Amino acid sequence: MQEHIVIIGNGISGITCARHIRKNSDHRITVISAETKHFFSRTALMYIYMGHMRYVDTKPYEDFFWEKNRIELFYGFVENVDTDNKKLSLKNSAEISYDKLVIASGSKSNKFGWSGQDLKGVQGLYSYPDLELMEENTKDISRAVVVGGGLIGIEMVEMLHSRNIPVSFLVRESGFWNNVLPPLESELIGRHIREHGIDLQLSTELESIEGDENGKVKAIITKSGEKIECQFVGLTVGVHPNIEFLKNSGIETEKGILVNEYLETNIEDVYAIGDCAQFKESPGYNRRNIEQVWYTGRMHGEALAQTLSHKRTAYAPGNWFNSAKFFDIEYQTYGWVMPKLQDNEQDFYWEDLSGKKALHFVFDKTDKVFKGINALGIRLRHEIMDRWLTEKRTVEYVLEHLKDANFDPEFYKKHEKEIVEKYNAENNAYVKLKKKSLMNIFKLN
Ligand SMILES: Cc1cc2nc3c(=O)[nH]c(=O)nc-3n(C[C@H](O)[C@H](O)[C@H](O)COP(=O)(O)OP(=O)(O)OC[C@H]3O[C@@H](n4cnc5c(N)ncnc54)[C@H](O)[C@@H]3O)c2cc1C
Repeated sequence: MQEHIVIIGNGISGITCARHIRKNSDHRITVISAETKHFFSRTALMYIYMGHMRYVDTKPYEDFFWEKNRIELFYGFVENVDTDNKKLSLKNSAEISYDKLVIASGSKSNKFGWSGQDLKGVQGLYSYPDLELMEENTKDISRAVVVGGGLIGIEMVEMLHSRNIPVSFLVRESGFWNNVLPPLESELIGRHIREHGIDLQLSTELESIEGDENGKVKAIITKSGEKIECQFVGLTVGVHPNIEFLKNSGIETEKGILVNEYLETNIEDVYAIGDCAQFKESPGYNRRNIEQVWYTGRMHGEALAQTLSHKRTAYAPGNWFNSAKFFDIEYQTYGWVMPKLQDNEQDFYWEDLSGKKALHFVFDKTDKVFKGINALGIRLRHEIMDRWLTEKRTVEYVLEHLKDANFDPEFYKKHEKEIVEKYNAENNAYVKLKKKSLMNIFKLN
């Protein structure tokens, strides 16, 4: 039976779900979104500001793709969800009925009630309209402050730096992103930020923001009383699920929309995926109940599409993976490398002489089973790292086959030998580096 599946949100989660439902079924699919008419890559927003890409280049699919694949797009804001009558009301008073509803409404930037947080020139960075606002807010300014040392914070700093705007970067913690990165990686990135001339201020918190007579920001005051004159303040202190419009819907929420392992809410035929979904129970070892991560949103979308098109399928998060870029340094993490070693864990850290590349392996102290790796400035093959984690290979197996994990041979080749030698010297071991094997890489045998 053909059903009408309506998806609120055209981000990575909603669009992945729509594409996979179409692959597997003939259901009618409508995607509603209020931000942009078409799906674009949110993680590429910074490159538009920096002049590396145009908005049109951030759209992964041509505009004709949607009609061709019978995915109806509706540009509008959903104000109310009536789950009794299976009906959505939109801001322009249109109504849309559904048989099944998928909520993929993403996140919103946090603001913590600072005095002056609503002044002109003060903003977060999440959406395309935020980017347009930032364009306007940073015209002809001579100094900016960015508050909050996470992934979006460092992107905003890099964006401003690309336009030669001096930036003070206020980070509450004592090291850059040190609630996620172990100390050596945090130091490496902190150094890299400072080498770009950024005024990185660690252990520094925002107290208030001051405005001028036109309601425009003119300075910030830190908790220790320092005043920094500026004409722009970026607030990048995290995000929260975008769910206010569900207030009267009867859909159970806490911080996010509560779901079980099938991404089902408390209301039949209503589901939630991506940044706005909150699992009632952690979906896997060490996994957070809300994960505001691109890759996770895509996996939620894929899993739910299975349920909606043929077979009820639980979300299986697989091995943890994430990636980002800190100025010129690429970061990848596979499995678990915690900021502090856990009981029964051991690690091995290698950094090259330039201080811009590092690999940090974590493994079990007793049986040496590989638990995770952080890579900075070196790109590893996703499928290989994922496979070795799943197969519970030892750290010595990983080191022996390091050439198979190497994604950029011309870039990385020269370090493998010294990495293995360092491991052997520190661990009294005899690991021998094996030749690269295409059979292993592509699992041909
Ligand atoms: C600048 C930036 C950089 C990032 N970099 C990384 C990175 O390097 N790695 C990483 O893993 N993650 C990164 N992220 C996070 C990642 O982009 C998000 O986790 C992901 O985009 C969330 O996807 P989503 O589909 O769940 O929601 P979203 O992409 O937020 O999409 C939700 C959509 O729903 C719309 N919507 C919401 N409510 C309504 C309503 N009531 N009516 C109509 N439409 C509605 C919203 O306007 C929005 O367009 C970054 C985020 C930002 C902002």
